[in-house]
Amino acid sequence: MSSLDEFARRKLDSLEQAHLRRSLVPTGRTDGLWVERKGRRLLSFSCNDYLGFTQHPDLKIAAIRAIERYGVGAGASRLVTGDHPLYAELEQRLARMKGDEAACVFGSGYLANAGITPVLAGDGDLILIDELAHSSLWTGARLSRAETLPFRHNDVAHVRQLLGEHRARYGCVLIVTEGVFSMDGDRAPLKELAALAREFDAWLLADDAHDLDMGAAARVGVPIKIGTLSKALGTYGGYVCASKPVIDLLRNRARTLIYTTGLPPPVIAGAIAALDLIEREPQRLELPLQKARAFTRAAGLPQAQSTIVPVVIGDAHAALEASRLLEAEGFLTVAIRPPTVPDGTARLRFSFSAVHPDDAIARVAELVRSRIIGNR
Ligand SMILES: *Cc1c(COP(=O)(O)O)cnc(C)c1O
Repeated sequence: MSSLDEFARRKLDSLEQAHLRRSLVPTGRTDGLWVERKGRRLLSFSCNDYLGFTQHPDLKIAAIRAIERYGVGAGASRLVTGDHPLYAELEQRLARMKGDEAACVFGSGYLANAGITPVLAGDGDLILIDELAHSSLWTGARLSRAETLPFRHNDVAHVRQLLGEHRARYGCVLIVTEGVFSMDGDRAPLKELAALAREFDAWLLADDAHDLDMGAAARVGVPIKIGTLSKALGTYGGYVCASKPVIDLLRNRARTLIYTTGLPPPVIAGAIAALDLIEREPQRLELPLQKARAFTRAAGLPQAQSTIVPVVIGDAHAALEASRLLEAEGFLTVAIRPPTVPDGTARLRFSFSAVHPDDAIARVAELVRSRIIGNR
């Protein structure tokens, strides 16, 4: 065996022993949140398709029309010839939805986060980042070369302390957090963080990938708002909303925008169709939270703060067992294990969508209450 293969085998063996080895499972989806996995049909609580838009006929038609008119690929990066006219419409409408001056669309939420922070902070600057922030936000912080200090999850007093101790020694200071935390479903104290940021002349960046309250960050004065087209909006891509000068600077300097190909036209057209639907029926955005709250009520869990509800099990092996138990009953809830979540906090992560049937929510809640929480 080559040393390379041996290296890979050894790493995989240690993951296996810790119950942390992962594998790709082909998962077909053609009908709402029903998925086909290993020959079985399961109802998924592990999709971020909050509004059921990934299969919505309006989005499909918009994408098909865009393919027929414009083809399947952008053919170049946005700053060369890949800036399809559909981008301008999408960006204007995203900015309006988020209550901001301007927006910039990236290839994905991950690319947005990896590219934006290094434009805003560098050598001699400071980044304060929530310890539970998404991997892509950490990637941006690391690539920036700025000093990066994590703060305790949602702990405003800790942020104040760090700003008090360190602010004076640095040029720019960026505070990085998530509007709704992707693995915990809780909300950041954005109002308090925005006030602190103003007090210490720091800048607040909030990743709203999972927040269906589209105006939440603008209402409390968050200047840099990250979003994704890949979750509630049902297609693919990431975006940032901010003031015009900030967006112009990002267009000039973000490497993950400049050195990568533009999105395929059908993807942009699909996202615009999603915005049409949201503008026509804004109540749709409230349904996933209502479903999540029906679940937490029936399962005897604390009231859901967002569409994401974690059921923390602790041990990675036990989390896999809990996931198998639900799978045997026809429900798919993927176990989330370290390093996606901290050691000892492996969990089932439920995400609720406008298209989940109420009777299925009641059944899965009953299973969680009687067979999983009872045994923790
Ligand atoms: C999913 C997610 C991303 C990445 O978005 P993609 O468009 O899927 O790349 C970024 N941040 C958070 C908080 C997320 O949950």
